[in-house]
Amino acid sequence: MKVRCPYCGAEYDAPEGLQYSVCPYCGTALRQGQTYEKVYIFKPTLDKTAAFRRALSLRPWASPSDLDSSASLTSAELHYIPLYLYYVYFEPLKELATYATAPAVEKPPFYIPKDYRFPARWRIPFKPSLERTAVFHGPQLDPEAAWAAVSGRYEREARNYAAVFKKPISDMSSFEGLVYYPFWRLRYAYGGREYEAVVDAAEGDVTYMEYPVSRAGRSASAAAAVSIVLGAAFLGLIGAAFSPAASAGIHGNPRLLDLAAAAGVAGGGVAGLVGAVRLLAFAVERRAIYRADRDVELV
Ligand SMILES: [Zn+2]
Repeated sequence: MKVRCPYCGAEYDAPEGLQYSVCPYCGTALRQGQTYEKVYIFKPTLDKTAAFRRALSLRPWASPSDLDSSASLTSAELHYIPLYLYYVYFEPLKELATYATAPAVEKPPFYIPKDYRFPARWRIPFKPSLERTAVFHGPQLDPEAAWAAVSGRYEREARNYAAVFKKPISDMSSFEGLVYYPFWRLRYAYGGREYEAVVDAAEGDVTYMEYPVSRAGRSASAAAAVSIVLGAAFLGLIGAAFSPAASAGIHGNPRLLDLAAAAGVAGGGVAGLVGAVRLLAFAVERRAIYRADRDVELV
């Protein structure tokens, strides 16, 4: 469905059957064709240079030591992710009443950890602007569905609190409006290649970062892999020493002991080799991905 933005005049595609649409150019939010009033925004506290510095100072595992001095920023885009704002209230616990936000998109345009805690305070009313400085993303979810996905932890908290007074509680939380939350999507160059990083522009956290694996990091992994293979071979030698001949005189049941020893050695060897193969794979890779809530991944 084509929509013409009443503020900046841009025409954009709005998905069918959704309550809201958001102009990707100026952020004007429409609710069933009408300008929607309750829209808030988090102002970025970091400009693109500060955001890039955050990414470089992260120093993820096996990144080159000259990354911060040799990498250069090639592009920076400010993106606003839509969140829904809720007034959280479990009757009669007035003292626990608070505001909470939940992502209004199912799939953000870049990596954001699934349980990312967006703040609800410090938002300010949003005013559209004609100067194009950011990309605004439209909501994809129902406000009720988005609330159902995050309400559990607030309800648990309220139930624990209420258990002390043995009072029943009921969820009187309400939907309050839209909030735009800023992220920097950065691209940078190092050693003739390009990498991407995503930085929370309000809080400064790095949620995603692609980076080169340093030559030092690669050879350290290769050395570790070799020593694991040697270690497995060494365990094999120990296993051979505990042969039936060596243990028969000491223990009543040499066969059983022998089987246990053999199983142990085989298990250790296999685990060692799996680790070594993974480290060797790492040793030849040149690019890794850091995600704020996961282990580093090689690509
Ligand atoms: Zn517009």
